[in-house]
Amino acid sequence: MTGAAKLLTPSFRLDGKRALVTGASRGIGEAAAHALAQAGAEVTLAARSLPELDAVAQAIRAQGGRAKTLPLDVTDSSAVQRDIAAQGPFQILVNSAGTNRPALLTQTSDEDLDAVLLLNVKAAFYLAREVARGLIAAGMPGSLINISSQMGHVGGPKRTVYCASKHAIEGLTKALAWELGGQQIRVNSLCPTFIETDMTRPMLADPEFMTLVQSRIALGRLGQVQDIMGAVVFLASEASALVTGSALMVDGGWTAQ
Ligand code: NAP
Repeated sequence: MTGAAKLLTPSFRLDGKRALVTGASRGIGEAAAHALAQAGAEVTLAARSLPELDAVAQAIRAQGGRAKTLPLDVTDSSAVQRDIAAQGPFQILVNSAGTNRPALLTQTSDEDLDAVLLLNVKAAFYLAREVARGLIAAGMPGSLINISSQMGHVGGPKRTVYCASKHAIEGLTKALAWELGGQQIRVNSLCPTFIETDMTRPMLADPEFMTLVQSRIALGRLGQVQDIMGAVVFLASEASALVTGSALMVDGGWTAQ
């Protein structure tokens, strides 16, 4: 029988851990970076725009957190390989860099198809591969978190490519969970509903679309970036030590219907 004194909740703290967050200059990635830093991790912020990264790093430091910047185009496989090898190992990876180009199938160009798959799928693969290489070489456990979407589980209007990309991320997550489990590297996806960010503001400006979105969220409101922060810390920390290959829905109930 387990003694009651031993039943301590595993820690949600991340002190001493190094985290890499892509897409950290804005939106969900920025919020994830703040959350990880507030839990004690040293956070490396990656995106293309250095001024935006600097602003986020300064905000994190102003709150007593530790943050570094890494200007990086995550679609450049050689640059990802070089920079992660130089800066790693990272015990936590949040793959948040991503995009959407909503369009009907018949109006989707090859360029749109390639751009969305390159950033949403291939770049996430490049990052996971390099972070895993660093962890395996160092013999360290880790937690890889892919910012997927509710659209990794259902379809949506004008979202053929986006849904394909996020369903691919779900498959990547499950396969990696099995491949890396033996090294104690956990891999999970986090699946938000519509969150107000620079990516979604233009879509949500369409009243018809906004009505559709709100009608599908059981909690009756759009998500804010704060809504993903607790989920990121949970997946990054020992609190989720037996969670791998899972999709954590932060979707206000969208996929429950
Ligand atoms: P966002 O506000 O548009 O931010 C995108 C971030 O990705 C920026 O930091 C951007 O910085 C970075 N980025 C874009 N291209 C990059 C590249 N080639 N290399 C490195 N960084 C790059 O997007 P968001 O709404 O936060 O979305 C973040 C993730 O959440 C995406 O994967 C998205 O699919 C997913 N998601 C979003 C929602 C939502 O409703 N917002 C819902 C479900 C899932 P730079 O431009 O400076 O590089």
